[in-house]
Amino acid sequence: MAKRVYNFYAGPATLPLPVLERARDELLDFAGTGMSVMEISHRSKEYDKVHMESMALVKELMGLKDGYKVMWLQGGASTQFYQVPLNLQVPGKKPQYVNTGVWSKKAIKEAKLYGEVDVLASSESGNFSYIPQDVKFSEDASYAHITGNNTIYGTEWHYMPKVPDSVPLVADISSNLMDKNEDFNKYAVIYAGAQKNLGPAGVTLVVVREDLLGRVPENTPTMQKWSTMAAKDSLFNTPPCWAIYICKLSMDHLKEMGGIPAMERINREKAKALYDVIDGSGGFYKGHARPDSRSLMNITFRLPNEDLEKMCVEAGKAKELIGLKGHRDVGGMRASIYNAMTLEGVKVLAEFLREFQDENQ
Ligand SMILES: *Cc1c(COP(=O)(O)O)cnc(C)c1O
Repeated sequence: MAKRVYNFYAGPATLPLPVLERARDELLDFAGTGMSVMEISHRSKEYDKVHMESMALVKELMGLKDGYKVMWLQGGASTQFYQVPLNLQVPGKKPQYVNTGVWSKKAIKEAKLYGEVDVLASSESGNFSYIPQDVKFSEDASYAHITGNNTIYGTEWHYMPKVPDSVPLVADISSNLMDKNEDFNKYAVIYAGAQKNLGPAGVTLVVVREDLLGRVPENTPTMQKWSTMAAKDSLFNTPPCWAIYICKLSMDHLKEMGGIPAMERINREKAKALYDVIDGSGGFYKGHARPDSRSLMNITFRLPNEDLEKMCVEAGKAKELIGLKGHRDVGGMRASIYNAMTLEGVKVLAEFLREFQDENQ
């Protein structure tokens, strides 16, 4: 057995062991071709099967109705920060954004390249420790944009903002893709870099309601139009075959586990195990996120001082608990516990944190 640690990195992040094992087993001979999936044509029938199944699986797992296009694009979620306004702009109208952290700000910055932007609500004054409540987008917005989970701060939307039927709701769900059951049909566009909750870096999942594909200006470069990729099922040019293949295996695994509802139950149990440690520590561990906005995926917390924080990260490393250092904007520690992190791994971390407190306070 290869050595495996408990990997709490924020992204790229841990992948399910059965997925890695399957990829290893098929590495030299994929689907009886005598070639790796990295070596065969993206037009081959063996690859095509994986490709088409991967898109069908997204729809099936998310319960998406007809009328959505699933796309595998390149350039990361950061590329969607400008492809969203480019493809959804409406002359004379402004988009409305909610600012819940660094990733929202980057999305807003790119949207401003295309015209004025309405920032409807923001939690910046509270160092993004919460999700603004009772957000209501207005009828005259070209589209509405939220960041579903704020990876750096450990906050997540736990309610649907009010959006008029005529306004498309767009969500960056890079760090909470398929973490909990929702009516995904309420979104018009969702996008997510794969490397946090689905697969390796190098591919971005973008799901778009088909009626929106006609909004893009004619003179837009071919590769920047969602409609180009939508019309060709993301096979207009060479797609990142390997990354899509791993995403497909990862969704097979999720389906075997019982799909998103089953995953949500596990994710809630995982998150609770860590928030219980924080809440039961008598103030030794202090959570960054306000309880009503706590993320299921990124648990952020501080210790009484920076020396203890450093010590705790190091002591974790010594116990094969890796990637616990917080982002510099929040400081302290962060445990990213995406779908692929097991309950067992989280329990080991919870136990470690309890022991660390006992020994150091
Ligand atoms: C990581 C992250 C991004 C950036 O993703 P890239 O694929 O690296 O461009 C965007 N949004 C959120 C919420 C993220 O967590």
